[in-house]
Amino acid sequence: MSQPPPHSPFVESSWTKQDGSFETPLRPQTLLEFSGQDLIRDRLDVLIGAAKKRGEPLGHCLFYGPPGLGKTTLAHIISKAMGTRLVVTSGPVIEKPGDLAGLLTQLKEGDLLFIDEIHRLSRAIEEYLYPAIEDFALDLIIDSGPAARSVQVKLNRFTLIGATTRIGLLSAPMRSRFGFNCRLDYYSPETLQDILTRSAQILEIPLSQKGAECIAARSRGTPRIANNLLRWVRDFAQMRANNQIDEKTAMNALDMLCIDHLGLDEMDKKILETLIDHYQGGPVGINTLSAALSEEVHTLEEVHEPFLMMQGLLKRTPRGREVTVQAYQHLGRPLRNHGA
Ligand code: ADP
Repeated sequence: MSQPPPHSPFVESSWTKQDGSFETPLRPQTLLEFSGQDLIRDRLDVLIGAAKKRGEPLGHCLFYGPPGLGKTTLAHIISKAMGTRLVVTSGPVIEKPGDLAGLLTQLKEGDLLFIDEIHRLSRAIEEYLYPAIEDFALDLIIDSGPAARSVQVKLNRFTLIGATTRIGLLSAPMRSRFGFNCRLDYYSPETLQDILTRSAQILEIPLSQKGAECIAARSRGTPRIANNLLRWVRDFAQMRANNQIDEKTAMNALDMLCIDHLGLDEMDKKILETLIDHYQGGPVGINTLSAALSEEVHTLEEVHEPFLMMQGLLKRTPRGREVTVQAYQHLGRPLRNHGA
C-alpha cells in the first residue's frame, strides 16, 4: 500500500494495517463485536450484505451523535466487512479544493473515504464534493482570469462516510446526499458493562462484575469514556489495591477523579455551580458561560451539554442555558434562587 505524501490532509488506514493508536486494540473489528445500537447494526448488516451480493460499492453513509459513541469504529468495521481501504480525513483539514482533488483522485474502486467532523467543511469544498459523490466526477478550474477553464476528471466509484457531532450544522444539500443516515445514541449501563468486560479481557485486567457495573454507571453512556476510566482504575488497582478491580476499588479510583455516581466530572459540576452561584440558575448565553468557565463554546456544546441535558440537569432555552430543579437537588443546593 502506498503511503500518503508528507503533509497530506489525510491518513490512509486499513483493517489489515496496525495503526498502533491508543484506542486500536479495543476497537471492535466486526458488527458482532460491536455492542449496542442494535438497529444500526442490523441495518448495516443488510446494507453491506446487499452491496457485496451485487458486487457494488456501498452507498454513502452518515453517522451522527456525541463523541466517543462509535462513529469511527463503524467506518473501520464497514471497511473490514467490504474488504476495502479506508481513507481517513476530517472536515477542517480540507482547506482548498486542491486538497479535496488530491484525496479523491487517489481513491481506488470501492474505497471508503471517511470525513470526520464533516459539518466543518467549507461551503466551497462542499460544492466540489457534490458531483464527486453523485456522479463520481470532479469539476476542476484550471488557470485563472480569461484563461480559466473547467476540466472534468472521472473518479473511481467510492463510498463517502461522513461523521458529525453537530448534525444541525450540516447543510441540507450535503445531508440529503447520504442514502444511509443514522444517529448513534448514548449506551445503556448494561451495554457499557459488556463493553468493559470485553476490554478488560483484551487488556488482561481482572475486573469483577460489580466493578464493571460501577465503572459503567459513571461512564456517561459513552464507550470511549468507559474504556478510559477502565485504564485509570487499572492503574489505581495496581498501585493501591493488589491489581484486583472490585466495586470498592473502582469506586475509590473514580472518587479520586472526582467523578460522581451519575458520571458528572469536575467541569460538568462547575457548569452547574457557576449557573447557580453566579447567575441564579440562568438563563445565561453560551458565550458568557464559556468566558466564565474559561472553556471553549464548542466543548461545552458538544461534550458537556448533551450529557447534562440527557440527565435532566440543564436545559437550552431561547434566552440561554438554565439549570433544572434536579441540578439543585443533585448538588445538594437550596432551591431558593431558582427561577428568580
Ligand atoms: P467516535 O468516532 O464516535 O468519536 P469511536 O468510534 O472513536 O467514537 O469510539 C471510541 C472508542 O470506543 C473506540 O476505540 C472503541 O474502543 C469504543 N467503542 C465505541 N463504540 C463501541 C461499541 N459499540 N462496542 C465496543 N466498543 C466501542
